[in-house]
Amino acid sequence: MTQAIAEKVNMDALKRAIDEVFYSQIDSTTLYYFQSCVNCKACEVACPFTPTSLHYSPVNKAEISRQLYRYRFSIWGKTIGKVIGGSKKYLTLNEAETMVDYVWHCTNCGACMFVCPMAIDSGALIDLLRQVAFKAGMVPKIYRDIADLEISGKYWDVDFFKNAWNSLISKIKDAIGKEVPLDKKKSEILFYASLYEAMVYPDVLVKVAKILDMLNKDWTFMSKPLGIRPPIGLVIGDKEGAIKVMQRVYSYFTDISPKYVMMTAGGFEYPSLRYTMHETFKVKPTYEVVHVTELLAKWYENNEFEIEPLDEIITWHDPCQLGRRGGVFEAPRVLMKALSKKFKELPSHGVNSFCCSRGGGGCGVPTMVENMAKTLGIAISEDDKKFLDSTIEPLIKAGKIKVNEINKVKAKEVMTGCPVCIESIGFSIDYYHANSQVKHIIDVLADRMKVNKK
Ligand code: SF4
Ligand code: SF4
Repeated sequence: MTQAIAEKVNMDALKRAIDEVFYSQIDSTTLYYFQSCVNCKACEVACPFTPTSLHYSPVNKAEISRQLYRYRFSIWGKTIGKVIGGSKKYLTLNEAETMVDYVWHCTNCGACMFVCPMAIDSGALIDLLRQVAFKAGMVPKIYRDIADLEISGKYWDVDFFKNAWNSLISKIKDAIGKEVPLDKKKSEILFYASLYEAMVYPDVLVKVAKILDMLNKDWTFMSKPLGIRPPIGLVIGDKEGAIKVMQRVYSYFTDISPKYVMMTAGGFEYPSLRYTMHETFKVKPTYEVVHVTELLAKWYENNEFEIEPLDEIITWHDPCQLGRRGGVFEAPRVLMKALSKKFKELPSHGVNSFCCSRGGGGCGVPTMVENMAKTLGIAISEDDKKFLDSTIEPLIKAGKIKVNEINKVKAKEVMTGCPVCIESIGFSIDYYHANSQVKHIIDVLADRMKVNKK
């Protein structure tokens, strides 16, 4: 941490955050995670950050949370643990600095949990620390400013955002040759998208609308987005902010009351809006939140359309939040196998898919974050710049492993279902000059679908 940030750290705020955020959220599951680690280090191999340094192994990052736990809850922690540094009531400035570094070296991808013999979710413990860091005011300002814009709803006052959304609606109108059904209540499908998607892959969204129109589905789209990438707060540790945004999303979904809320993104928004939002509000939704691949696989199996296959090797990258955290593995494979007889799995796939090092806690490719901040008129401080630069190394190191896997199966096209995976794998393919392309599955599928007339 630079001297400038260190001077800004309010140690009282940090103590309050540890008391209010950390201790208040300990439940039976986290207790199990605190107590059951056998220190075997099996989790190291699964983490996308350990190729950068073993310092970032899941067990090492989660150790800070265990030290805080032991001090107050275990005899060992209260006695000898205190003397040998195995427990802490609070954190010193240097320890807080280490904590901040650790929390931004975890995407909450969940891979460590699947290799741990005790099924410990270190990502969940690191997420608790991320909430502490946020509450203590130790989150990078650039992320906080973007999240604040989402929470306040003022993103809609930004011309750049408004134009991106309105231009998307006009493109959809041109593609389907009629007015776009907007905010229509009780449609079968609410086609949900975020502002972020409208900016990074508008063409994919237009293709989704074309598919819905071709298949003659009863669908609707949003006249205004519900956030930049709601709920961003969950990724930066701002739970209170995330709740405000989820309230906006939940009330819109409930008001429209579709049968399905269909998403194109399979990043953190998928488990957040499918599970976390309803668990937080303790409600049983009247609609089902699904990824676009889930509905398309169902319609394909119902013979509503055929797929003209490709004659090339293709592969699928399982986004961590859609797969491990969201449970969607089968549907994309139904479509991928129909798309090519030469579909091949990456060496690490399914629950063991290797994370691209962005996503649910990685917050995107740094150049993209920087560009977005510039467009929004958010000043990028020297500290922000240093922080963003520090996120490039893990992207390059984890990207090498991903690119090696793609090369191994000789896939010409890598398909996936998450905007951030597309960005980060695209970055790695360019960086390592790999002979492959990464695309959203819709990008390819939409052009190869043939509707079966009934
Ligand atoms: S794999 Fe599980 S038990 Fe082993 S060190 Fe990692 S968290 Fe602890
Ligand atoms: S959740 Fe993913 S990124 Fe975080 S520690 Fe575990 S393996 Fe590493």
